[in-house]
Amino acid sequence: MTDLLIRGGTVFTPDGPREADIHVDDGVITAVGPASSTAHERVVDATGMYVLPGAIDVHVHSRDPGFPQKEDFGTLTAAAAAGGVTTVIDMPNTVPAVDAAGVLEAKSALARGKARVDFGLWALIRSTSTPSDLEQLAAAGATGFKTYLGYAFNTTRKQVMYAPDSDDPDLEAPPDYGTLARLASSVAELGLPVVVHAEDPAILAAFRRPLETYEDLLAARPAEAEAIAVSAVAEIAGSSGVRMHVAHLSSASGLAAGREAIRAGAPLTLETCPQYLWRCDADFESVGMAMKMFPPVRRAADREALNAGLSDGTISIVATDHAPHTDDEKGVSLDAAASGSPGVQTLYASSLELAKRMGDVWRAPRWVAEAPARLAGLGETKGVIAVGYDADLVVVDPTSPTIVRATQMRSRQRHGVLEGLRFGFTVREVFLRGVLVAREGRKVGRASGRFVRPARAH
Ligand SMILES: [Zn+2]
Repeated sequence: MTDLLIRGGTVFTPDGPREADIHVDDGVITAVGPASSTAHERVVDATGMYVLPGAIDVHVHSRDPGFPQKEDFGTLTAAAAAGGVTTVIDMPNTVPAVDAAGVLEAKSALARGKARVDFGLWALIRSTSTPSDLEQLAAAGATGFKTYLGYAFNTTRKQVMYAPDSDDPDLEAPPDYGTLARLASSVAELGLPVVVHAEDPAILAAFRRPLETYEDLLAARPAEAEAIAVSAVAEIAGSSGVRMHVAHLSSASGLAAGREAIRAGAPLTLETCPQYLWRCDADFESVGMAMKMFPPVRRAADREALNAGLSDGTISIVATDHAPHTDDEKGVSLDAAASGSPGVQTLYASSLELAKRMGDVWRAPRWVAEAPARLAGLGETKGVIAVGYDADLVVVDPTSPTIVRATQMRSRQRHGVLEGLRFGFTVREVFLRGVLVAREGRKVGRASGRFVRPARAH
């Protein structure tokens, strides 16, 4: 008796889409092919549907532990499951920040009881991090490392500080290019990637100003800050062999810098997010504070350049930077409002719609599943539908549109930057290792997410 059969759908395989049945045993795909007469415990009729690999969102902020009023692993992963994201990789700026193996182990234990999808954990590089810290974090199962160029660290609260008081005696200097260059050979030996928040701190410091209007916000975070930081980290990647990954690319000039480095052979990958692909400055009036985020959503020309960069393959990954805040933290002045927006639940539907508009809907699973799996060291177990892979499967209806509405969001914070947009796809059923975890946008069953470790390069 086979556990699960998903029958009659159009399945996205590594060789492209085809009509096929998917057989699952013990959470793993055992056959992708024509119908057979084997008995099955559970049969899902996917006639007329797409069957896609579960998405891996490599950029989420669970806020757990540290900020339960914003989000926790339970609400994060309920939203993820509802949207077809079956693995999340969580950023390390929770509190305490994930800067040591013991913190990573405690966070993984905490998430294990709440997570409805599988999860990995990025670890933090501080300006004071040592090769031995990184080695221990890698041994504890870190997906890789994240560094926030220019963001200071409070050593008592163990917290990455976005707006530190300059007279705070507990502040440690932010990591800089020197930090990355100093640790590069150690990271290269570990074979793990480094994710960079790439905005050059010196440029940001030069343009700092009160944010009264959206134009002020754009002037305070100019695209040249991104382009300079991308070039600098690409240089370190090229000379050290460390795989560098640029998070949330937001500008045409940042993209141009990344493209040049990739052409020159640097081991660099680029990620952008749905907000930069769908929105531009003109939307601020209607979208409001959900659009406050760093780096900012820029001009229409930046949006078009990023869409072109995704279309030509320069940008390989779409992730969300899911970063919820409470309505109170958002419902203040532009200057005072917290930065970030929830988004994990709409990753798949928005990506399918973009891919469709580019003329090939089947690109979307490569952006949200296949390429992210490679970045996260999960390329041998997740990210594609093939024999031997985890049965993380998403059944999508390509004839039923989704309109993004706050009432249907499962994150603790419901007002996101894509609210009101219409995508021509609806996520119907979502399976994690062969077990149904969401149906029609609602969580199903118990929290069964597991901690996933990267396969080490060596
Ligand atoms: Zn982020």
